This record gives sequence, C-alpha cells and structure tokens, in this order.
Amino acid sequence: MPESRVHCSFCGQEQGPDVPLIAGEEGHICEECVQLASQVVGSWGRKRAASRPLQKLQKPVDMKAQLDQYVIGQELAKETLAVAVYNHFKRLSMDNERQNIRESTRHVEIEKSNILLLGPSGTGKTLLASTLARIVGVPFVIADATTLTQAGYVGEDVESILARLLDAADGNTELAEWGIVYIDEIDKLARAGESSHGMRDVSGEGVQQALLKLVEGTTVKMGARGRKDHGEEHLIDTRNILFIAGGAFAGLEKQLEKRLGLGVRGIGFHVDMSEPEQAREQLRSFEQVQPEDLRYFGLIPEFIGRFPVVTALHDLDVQALVQILTEPRNALVRQYQRLFEFEGVRLEFTSDAMSAIAGQAIERGTGARGLRGVVESLLRKVMFEVPSLQNVTGCVVDADSVTSSKPVLITCEEEAGGQLTEQGGV
Ligand code: ADP
Repeated sequence: MPESRVHCSFCGQEQGPDVPLIAGEEGHICEECVQLASQVVGSWGRKRAASRPLQKLQKPVDMKAQLDQYVIGQELAKETLAVAVYNHFKRLSMDNERQNIRESTRHVEIEKSNILLLGPSGTGKTLLASTLARIVGVPFVIADATTLTQAGYVGEDVESILARLLDAADGNTELAEWGIVYIDEIDKLARAGESSHGMRDVSGEGVQQALLKLVEGTTVKMGARGRKDHGEEHLIDTRNILFIAGGAFAGLEKQLEKRLGLGVRGIGFHVDMSEPEQAREQLRSFEQVQPEDLRYFGLIPEFIGRFPVVTALHDLDVQALVQILTEPRNALVRQYQRLFEFEGVRLEFTSDAMSAIAGQAIERGTGARGLRGVVESLLRKVMFEVPSLQNVTGCVVDADSVTSSKPVLITCEEEAGGQLTEQGGV
C-alpha cells in the first residue's frame, strides 16, 4: 500500500494511525520534527534578540547625551556610568564573537565593572540606572537590599531577583544574562552610621555574602514554578549581568571628614583646606570616597571589591530642581500641564513659583522625589474644582500660592483680567 510507505523526510519515521505526517511538495514531516524545528528556530530568534543590544551599542558620548535628556546634572556620575556600561558591553561583544567561534573559549574571564552609586535619596540613582538600561536595550530590574534582609532566607531572594530579570527578558535566558540589576539601599546592609560603633549588622553581612556570589558570577538554577514558560527550567549565568548598587550612605561624610582631617586639626589630602566650606561641600558629594571608608561604614571588603567603579551623585540645589521640574522629557510641570489640557485649561507656573516649589522640596529632604508631593498638594484644590467650573481657560501658580496660602489664580473666558477664586494655596 502506497500510504504505509510514507515516511517523515527528516527522521524517517513511518506514517501510521499515531504518527500523522504533514505533506509538503516533495516530502513529509512528523509532529516531533515540527516541534524540534520550532525549538531550533526559536533559539535562533532568542540569540538574535540577545545580540541586538550589542549591535546598537552607543559610544559613551552618545550614551551621555541620551542620559542628558532624562537626568539633570550629575555630570560625573553620567560620564562614569556611560564609560562603565560601554566597556561592560564591549567586553561582552568580544566574548560573544568568541562564543560563535569556539565553545571551549566560553570560559575566558571577563572582568565586570559593577558600579556603586553613592548619593542622597532622590538625586537620580535609580533614574540613571533605569535610563541606561533603556538606552542599551537590555532587561532591567530593581531589587531592594532591605527586603533581602527581611526575608531571612537569602537564597530565595537572590533567585527572585533573577526570576524577575528573566520575566523582564520575556523568558529569554540569553537576554536576561546581559541584563542590568539595580540594587537599592545597599548601605542598609552595613551597620548604620556612627552610633553603632564597631558593630556590624550580622544579617546584613550575610546578605552581602549571598550577593557576593551573585555579583561575581554564579550559575543559578531557576525553578519552573509559577513561570509562564511551559515548565522550562532555566540556568542563569550571572557572570555578565551588570550590577549597579546604590545607597545614600548617610553618615559617611563624618568618616570622610575624619580621614581627611576636616573638622579636627589635621591634614587634608585631596581637599583644599583654604576653602573649608567648599571642601565640606565636596565631602557631601562623596567624591572623595575610598574603599576604606566603605569598609568603615560596614561593607565587607570582598563586597566592595566587586564594585570597582564608584561614583557619587550630588545633592540637588534649587536651580537643578527647577530644571528637573521643566526640562526632562517627562518633566513634572509638563505632566501636570498635560493633565490640565484634558480640561482645556492652560496651566502655568511663574519662575518664582518654581523656585519656591524647589525650596520646599529641599526642606522635605527627599531630593527631587519631594517635588511631586509639593506640586500635588499645591494643585489639589484646583484639580478638585476646575473640572466642575465653566469656562476656565487657565491657571497660574505664582510664588505666593506656594509660600503662603494665596489661592491659585484661575482665568475664565469672559473675564480677560482673570479672577481670584477660593482655591487654597498649599
Ligand atoms: P534615588 O537617588 O533615591 O534612587 P530616584 O532616581 O528614584 O532617586 O529619583 C526619584 C525621582 O526624582 C525620579 O523618578 C525623577 O523623577 C526625579 N529625579 C531625581 N533626580 C533627578 C535628576 N538628576 N534629574 C531628573 N530627575 C530626577
């Protein structure tokens, strides 16, 4: 019988009641071979997707120019990060080329330049890391060092960081292995400040130890539980994942002052002692930080050693905060203007008002993060009332609306000069 002699053209399996074959113009294929082919083609796609970031890797200058569109100031940090990320991915691309040639050279050590960002809260550490990941086009996750401490059982948390990275890479292991992990609040793993002299937070140190393995490179077996990838198990090699750790390191400046001989009579090594105020300012920006300072702070030497690139972010002054309000692509003022536009209302802030908003954010001590809170409470009442008012065409926020409880000025269609309504200021 002619049918019984039909075979799969790939594996040779004979057609039968349990082995249906798909007929092509010149041959046949069985289900197993279709599945195998689908897996092979899928892995090509994954490999192509994973090498895409390298193909479009930008030069440090271009990377910084892109960062400039989102992050105000922090020039030193932006430059340092651009160089570190560029070098990191360049090394990867060299490694990748070798991978294509010989499997045996996969073990060539690539030194990673994990990055430690020091700087007060709300100065743009997370923003820098996430913007960089977007620019480079690799998956990105934020992990919080304090949750690692709380969970107690460290292994699970470490795995969960990678599980999230894998999710961010849509289950593509190759892409996840080139991702960027931002670990926030890294300073909380050390003993806090001066008060607990000589004592190290033991659990924090345990987490540092656990992270050490992850950061320097280890292979983690990811369980298939809870993942939407048909029960596939993943082995993730963390050697090429770039880790960026950030922390405020409050109290570190005291150690710096001590080491550099400020405040007490002594010798300043790098700081110009003729300008003590300026010197203090410099200290505040942590530009003088050396590994020994971090050690004193309570980070273990091995951990510090895994983060060879250390850079500092400055406190943001009024001028920088005003820029943050208006200049970035999704600046806060633009966001609120957009919201008001939905009501057909033109929202304006006088430049004095913006300086006053910046001043209040500084008082809150949470850097640029405080800006939204200030603007939100400032506009709360108008946002509540304006949608119900007729003929409103504009809202003007001036300095008095910010500093005193003077209501925000609302202009209506009929009255060219505008009128004061009962809206409260702050
Ligand atoms: P942290 O340094 O605590 O990680 P974030 O990066 O999370 O601070 O900043 C909080 C928010 O403040 C950001 O989402 C961003 O809107 C704003 N912001 C902080 N610093 C800057 C900056 N240098 N330029 C622009 N926006 C900033």
